[in-house]
Amino acid sequence: MKKLLTLLLIISVSIGFSQNKIILVIDAGHGGTDPGNLRSDTGLKQEKDLNLSMALQFGEYIETYLGHQVETIYTRKKDTFIELNDRIKIANDIKANYFISIHCNSSTKPEVFGTETHIHNLNTKKSSELANMVESQFKNRAGRNSRGVKLKTDRRFNLQVLKDSKMPAILVETGFMTNKQEEKYLNSEKGQDLIASAIFRSFRNFAKKNHNISMRTPEKMDTIAETKPVWKIQIMASTGPVGLSNPDFTSLNKTIEEVKIENPTTPFNYKYYVGIYKEKKDAKQGLKEVRQSAFGDAFLVKFD
Ligand SMILES: [Zn+2]
Repeated sequence: MKKLLTLLLIISVSIGFSQNKIILVIDAGHGGTDPGNLRSDTGLKQEKDLNLSMALQFGEYIETYLGHQVETIYTRKKDTFIELNDRIKIANDIKANYFISIHCNSSTKPEVFGTETHIHNLNTKKSSELANMVESQFKNRAGRNSRGVKLKTDRRFNLQVLKDSKMPAILVETGFMTNKQEEKYLNSEKGQDLIASAIFRSFRNFAKKNHNISMRTPEKMDTIAETKPVWKIQIMASTGPVGLSNPDFTSLNKTIEEVKIENPTTPFNYKYYVGIYKEKKDAKQGLKEVRQSAFGDAFLVKFD
């Protein structure tokens, strides 16, 4: 009987563990009656709108590539006003694991440009690790001018959101709206995509290191952000996650991308891809090779 109880305990513990998703709160700074930093021209967007679209894009990457392991919660998904205290209260109340706030910066000096990631809370060590990863992605992968990780001494009023967080929390200043060139970049689709994918990669790498999550995401997220359409080779669709250590997969000797389809129209809500190609003729060549493997029915999918 004791053995059985022990066994049941182990089973329930492991089930509980496997269902434990990482809870990530994404906070698009400002909103509603609070526009944040003002645009320099009516053809451009206010800070609150830039923050929102980058936050949503970042969340979309999380949901697409890590959705089965990370639960994404937004403080706002629309142009609404939310008190600073309420933003962090949302995260504290649901016992979120991480809080990422997205903003655009300003300076009295128009020549100042670049990214900053701010930290200030009780979990400074993890916050600092994540913040450093974000700045490193900006600098090394997105080609931005990284101004580095900033501490509480640099804190301005909008950073008080970090003060009361009970979890590792960072505030990303994605660029200066007071710098003409950077304001243009922040307003561009390409700029927004590069920023969102850089923050995504940082979080993905951080989660892999700290939570040992499994994941296969495109090797060249930057390329995806920059150029569309692209072609990928779909090798399989499945009603549930297939382990990426499956021998058929490993025998391919390629990076497998696992994608969970939200609101699937068929029961096959997991799709598996290899390769990413800008040119269709290269994709066709890749397909030829893949079809000689265990995946004779593989086919090309175009992503616009
Ligand atoms: Zn702001």
